Amino acid sequence: MPTSAYAMLPEDWSTFCKNAGFPAFRSKQILLGLYKDRIRDWSELTTLPAAMREKLTKDAPLTTLREVTRTPSGTDGVTKFLLEADDGEQIETVWIPADGRVTQCISSQVGCDMHCAFCASGQLGCVRSLSAEEIVAEVMVLAREMGQYPNNIVVMGMGEPFVNYDAVLRALRILNCQQGINIGARHITLSTCGIVPGIQRLAEEGVQFELSVSLHAPNDVLRSQLMPVNRRWNIAALLSACDAYTAATGRIITYEYTLVKHFNDRPTHAAELIRLLRNRKARVNLIPLSPVAEFDGETPSHADCLVFLDALLKAGIHTTMRRSRGKQADAACGQLRLRKVKETENGSQKQ
Ligand code: SF4
Repeated sequence: MPTSAYAMLPEDWSTFCKNAGFPAFRSKQILLGLYKDRIRDWSELTTLPAAMREKLTKDAPLTTLREVTRTPSGTDGVTKFLLEADDGEQIETVWIPADGRVTQCISSQVGCDMHCAFCASGQLGCVRSLSAEEIVAEVMVLAREMGQYPNNIVVMGMGEPFVNYDAVLRALRILNCQQGINIGARHITLSTCGIVPGIQRLAEEGVQFELSVSLHAPNDVLRSQLMPVNRRWNIAALLSACDAYTAATGRIITYEYTLVKHFNDRPTHAAELIRLLRNRKARVNLIPLSPVAEFDGETPSHADCLVFLDALLKAGIHTTMRRSRGKQADAACGQLRLRKVKETENGSQKQ
C-alpha cells in the first residue's frame, strides 16, 4: 500500500485507518480534508485529534511541488507553471481556460525518452518518471493557486504516460474517484505517442478514460522521421492495437495530427490519412505546427490547413482543428523547462 497521502485511494485510507486503530469514519474526514479543504499540512485538519494528525504526518506525508515560475499568455488566460519536486527536478503543467471551463495539461515524467522531432521535452531525454503522488500534486498545487479544480485533465505534458503506466493510472483513478477530486472519466484524456503494449493494457483496465494517439503522419516513412517510436511499433501495429482498444471499450480514439508545411500537409497526405482512418472509429485533431527552436519545420498556411481539414470532413471523418493557444507561454510541451535548463547551463558556464 502506498504511504504518500496523494497516492492513496479511498480503499487504501480504509486500510490505513484500520491498521492505525482509527475509527472507520476518519477515512472520510481525511479525504474531505485532502480534496475538499485542500489542506497543505496535516496540522490544518483540526477535525482530527492531535495524535492522529501526528501519525498522518509521520506515515502518510503530503507530497508537494514548489512553484518555480509561471508564464501567463496574454489575454487567453493560458498559464504555464514550472514546478519543482523535492529532489529539485522540474516539470511543467498548463492551465487552459476556454469557454467557461478549464483544462489542465499534466506531465507524467521529467523530460521524455521518445524524442519526437517537434517536442522540446524530448530534447533532454527522460530524467525520471513521476510518482502517482507527484502527478496528483500537480493538480492540487494549481487548484490551490487558481481556487478551483480543472474540469478536464489531459495527460499531454512532459513524458510518455504509458512508460510510467502504473503511477499514471493510479493518479488518474484518484483524480477520477468521487471521494477524491471527482473529475469524470470522460473528462480525462490519456495521450500516447504510440506505445502499443500500453494501449493493449489500457483496453483491459475497464476504465472509461479518453485515449488520444499522436499519429502526425499518414505513412511509416514520414512518421519515422518525426517519431522514432514508429520504428518500434509502425502504423499498422499501432492501428491494430487501437482497433482492439475500440473493440474492447467501445471508445472512439482521437488521432492527433500536427500539420507541418510541405511535409505532411499536402492533399496526397490527406488522402493517405483518409485511407487509414475511413473505416475506423476515429476522430482527428489537426494541429498547425507551433514553431519550436529545436525543429526546423514550418507552420503551414491557414489556407492549406483548411484544404486538409475539408478533405477529411468530406470523407466523413470527424475532424477538428485546434486553435493555436499559449504561444507566448512557451506552451508547447517542455519548452519552459528546456529554457530553464539552458539558462542554468549558460549561467554555470559563465561562472
Ligand atoms: S511529444 Fe510527448 S512522447 Fe513525444 S517527446 Fe514530447 S513528451 Fe515525449
